[in-house]
This record gives sequence, C-alpha cells and structure tokens, in this order.
Amino acid sequence: MLAVGAHPDDVEILCAGLLLLLIRAGFEAHVAMLSVGDCGSADLPPDKIAAVRRKEAERACRVAGARYHCLGFRDLQIFNDDVSNRRVTALLREVNPVIVVTHPPADYMADHEATSVLVRNACFAAATPNYDTAQFTPVRRADSIPYLYYTQRVEGLDLFGRPVLPAFYCDISDVFETKLRMLACHESQREWLRRHHGMDEYLDEVRRWTSTLGERASVLSGRHIAHAEAFRQHRGHAYPSDDGLELLLADRIIPEPEFH
Ligand SMILES: [Zn+2]
Repeated sequence: MLAVGAHPDDVEILCAGLLLLLIRAGFEAHVAMLSVGDCGSADLPPDKIAAVRRKEAERACRVAGARYHCLGFRDLQIFNDDVSNRRVTALLREVNPVIVVTHPPADYMADHEATSVLVRNACFAAATPNYDTAQFTPVRRADSIPYLYYTQRVEGLDLFGRPVLPAFYCDISDVFETKLRMLACHESQREWLRRHHGMDEYLDEVRRWTSTLGERASVLSGRHIAHAEAFRQHRGHAYPSDDGLELLLADRIIPEPEFH
C-alpha cells in the first residue's frame, strides 16, 4: 500500500492508523511526501528546516516499518502540471501498490488538493503503457489501477464550513498509540505548536479528532471505539469500485449510512 501526503506529517495525522493495520495484515507499506516541508518553521531557513523534516519523516516511517519516499516539491508549490504528473506517476510505477490513500479532492489548502489530483491521475497513468515517465525513473508500467481512498480532512468541514461526511470509519484504537509515536517524531512541528499554544496541541488535536470520529463509529456500530480514522473511496470509471478495504479489514470498517 502507498500513502501520499503533500507535507511531511500529513500521513501520520490523517491515515497512519490505517497504514499500521494494513502492515499488520501483511502489506508492504510506503509513505510518500510530495513536499520537503520547507515552510514549516518560523526560525529556520527553508533548506535547514527541510533537512530536519526529512529526518523526522524517515524516523516516523521507521516506527511503522514503512518505506519512506520524498518527491522534492516545495511547500505551496505543488501544482497539477505535466512534470508533476510524470513525477508522481513514476512513484506509482516504482511502488506498484494495490491500495493508495491520499488527500480528498477538496481540502483546506491548495497543496493538498493538487496532491489529490496528481495521485488520482497517477493511479490511472501508471498503468497506461504509452505514458512516459522515463525522465524520472525508467520503470515498467503498473499492473493495474489501484484502489484509491481519500482521507477525511481534520475538522471534517468543507471550505464553506459545512460538514463533509466520510463513507466509512476505520477502528484504529489498538494502533492509536503507535500512530501518536509516529506523529511525535515530527518534533520540529510539535515544538513550534507547543511554544505557540503553550501546550502539546500537535498530539492533542489528533487525539481529539480521532476520538470524535470514534464516537460516531461507536454510535453506528453499537460498540465502544476509542479512536477512528475516516475515508471515502474513489469509485469513478476505470478505478476499482468494489469494497477492497472493507473486505480486508471487515470488522474494523463501519459504514456511514448518511453518506450513502
Ligand atoms: Zn499538509
């Protein structure tokens, strides 16, 4: 499986629980960040903070047992253009995943939205024989279009403040502490918020958010779910539209009836 975030800590915040569950189910896991995270500091210059954040992201991957990839984009400079599509498609061909998770098509910042469309395009293009990515990595085309899932954005609201429902919740309670340990590897971001807010807001916000999703999943399932993540599946033409993840993690997946 492959999880792709725009920035170094996005995967940990949005879908590390799912990643850990799939590793436990026997999947080889890959985490990719498009950007080096060069705007993630008020004190350090771009190249210095980028170097720090690469190391933090690699450490987080080691905690999970996932392989780390960084595509070298810059913060606020992720765009849906020709070169970027070829670069992300090369990643998809290199990893050749069965399951891909990334940001939803509409999100609170443009980097996330551009990442979403680049990954969506790459899932399709990677399996297209005549699409050329040789300038990045001369690898063969992917076997097929993978299952594509979008994360729920933190707060679960659209750009106009209206709630956006996920299609299903995933019970991540028993891997939640490992998700937090992965997140805690991003020490530069944690420290920044700690100084800014005077508390450990970096970890607390994720704890609150996964608890909120867990509460809804508890109501729907009739059992106590302490922490959950939430997702939607891309079911457009040519992409797999059967319930891949739901079949793999059956007892942990709780559908949101109001989405359907
Ligand atoms: Zn981000």
